[in-house]
Amino acid sequence: MSRIIGIDLGTTNSLVAYVDEKTGLPRVISDEDGRVLLPSIVSFTPDGVLVGEAARRQLVRRPTSTVYSVKRFMGQGYGDVKDELKFFPFTIVPVDNVVSIRLDDRTVTPPEVSAVILRTLKERAERHFGETIEKAVVTVPAYFNDSQRQATRDAGRIAGLDVVRIVNEPTAASLAYGLDRLKEGVVAVYDLGGGTFDISILRVQDGIFEVLATNGDTHLGGDDFDRVITLWLLEDIQSRHCADLERDGIDLARDHEVMQELRLAAEAAKIRLSSAERTTLTLPLGSFTYHRDIARAELERLIDPLVGKTLGPVRMALADAGLRPSQVDEVVMVGGSTRVPLVRRRVQELFGKTPHSQLNPDEVVALGAAVQAHILAGGITSMLLLDVTPLSLGIETFGGIVSVLIARNTTVPTSAREMFTTSVDGQTVVDLHVLQGERELAKDCRSLARFELRGVDPMPAGMPKIEVTFLIDANGILQVQAKELRTGKAASIEVKPTYGLSEADVERMVEDSFTYAEADVETRMLIETRNEAETVITHVERALRQGAQLVEADERAQIEAALATLKAVRDGQDRDAIREATTAMNRVTEPLAERMMDAALKSALGTRRAAEIIGSSE
Ligand code: AMP
Repeated sequence: MSRIIGIDLGTTNSLVAYVDEKTGLPRVISDEDGRVLLPSIVSFTPDGVLVGEAARRQLVRRPTSTVYSVKRFMGQGYGDVKDELKFFPFTIVPVDNVVSIRLDDRTVTPPEVSAVILRTLKERAERHFGETIEKAVVTVPAYFNDSQRQATRDAGRIAGLDVVRIVNEPTAASLAYGLDRLKEGVVAVYDLGGGTFDISILRVQDGIFEVLATNGDTHLGGDDFDRVITLWLLEDIQSRHCADLERDGIDLARDHEVMQELRLAAEAAKIRLSSAERTTLTLPLGSFTYHRDIARAELERLIDPLVGKTLGPVRMALADAGLRPSQVDEVVMVGGSTRVPLVRRRVQELFGKTPHSQLNPDEVVALGAAVQAHILAGGITSMLLLDVTPLSLGIETFGGIVSVLIARNTTVPTSAREMFTTSVDGQTVVDLHVLQGERELAKDCRSLARFELRGVDPMPAGMPKIEVTFLIDANGILQVQAKELRTGKAASIEVKPTYGLSEADVERMVEDSFTYAEADVETRMLIETRNEAETVITHVERALRQGAQLVEADERAQIEAALATLKAVRDGQDRDAIREATTAMNRVTEPLAERMMDAALKSALGTRRAAEIIGSSE
């Protein structure tokens, strides 16, 4: 049986754990220097890629090529994150609307950055065991959607790890405390890390965890504690050392490097104050040194509003789950910031019971991931098996391709949402075909259901926004809903995906997916190329109709010739020929497209302003 490791891929820190065969207990693995936490920071330097502590040291020197908090960007579209980019010193750019990070000489994607972290942990485990490790259980927040989970899997693949299971972080934390052994109960997992706060309310029944509700704040955590302390210190330095700063020519607030050092000193002081009542912060600045005594009570006064801010989402999650605080049986603390005594006090007051904090709050998720890994590797047979979808679920899209919404092995209950559109102008009925299986083409998968979304307003192809939602409940019942967002028209259907499938069927379907993988990918690429050709044809024909007055006779002849060539090859088997004809088509229509855009811009903005805009871009 090959070994499976458990990995907590965190926003601030990441770590790896395994279950010790002798004791049956999960344990974290430390690096050569005895450190368990690997800061989730990757620095791309001219001499190579640095990870963890080594990368952290580059935060000050290389702010634009040292990437942290990459978890926030996993599986996100540019639109999802553009409001927060100003908070990061590195540059985020959209590549096909997917978030990428621009370095000095290239761009990298979030999964590539996460893969550097995963590879480091994989190597750490390999050194510990003296053997190659190829499989891992990786945890993600309970609210992660399908594309964020997929991005996490991709990161694993890039790192040479088969992510055999993605587990929700609160479920992992509960597993670490053995709460799966509750016959029945409700667990609240309060997770306050560096940059994010999550509260999850889980129901455990016979070893199966069901997420009843999640809530939180994606911009609240220990980093915010650090920020308020830093600002407070900044004011203190400026008022006490005004003359020194002026003499040394230091403009504190604008000096990136000094501010970074001040932030690190503030964080260190905060950490000391979790165990000590008082501490002293020392920071050399120019020709003088800044000293400041801080009492825990002072820190608590500064951060109390932030701690209070976590309680709103807790109450909301409880309300969503239809529960009162007293109906929660167990409270689990996760995340480095739950070491802050004030945080523990506030949580205890709210629930009226002492939270579980015996395990290290930084390690508890990784320990739980290790427990899950051990179960999957067959080490624990008497214990639970979290329910999972045995096969991928998706819908058929244009050309008979399957678009997977929920990947095989996803823990249920789960949901996923994706946007689709129409492929034909004026389409008012959309046929939805729900499929199960691992193959790329609909005809090779199992058909689960078909239903129609009717009453879509006639619009040009590609305009309607059809949101398809898959929802699998704890009993494995799949609900599929399709909704056209412009008109609000909706339709839905319910199916039992595994109905009538034996273990052997599932195994065969998975095996087939490997056997046919190569051929499937080729067919898929052919269909996608054809689809693209089809889209181009539709657009060009529409442009020739709508922009007739903008086309000269010989240009029209050229375009029509390219159109004829493309139509002649589009249904053939030669992908290169279709691609070339599509490219040629795009080339000859480029001037027309530009003229049409200018015309549209002019009519939208008035001629004078359009001339300015067009003029200024030249
Ligand atoms: P995590 O994202 O769970 O790794 O948590 C990291 C956050 O926990 C950072 O903001 C740390 O400053 C904070 N943290 C770690 N240890 C302590 C401690 N002893 N007291 C207070 N905060 C801590």
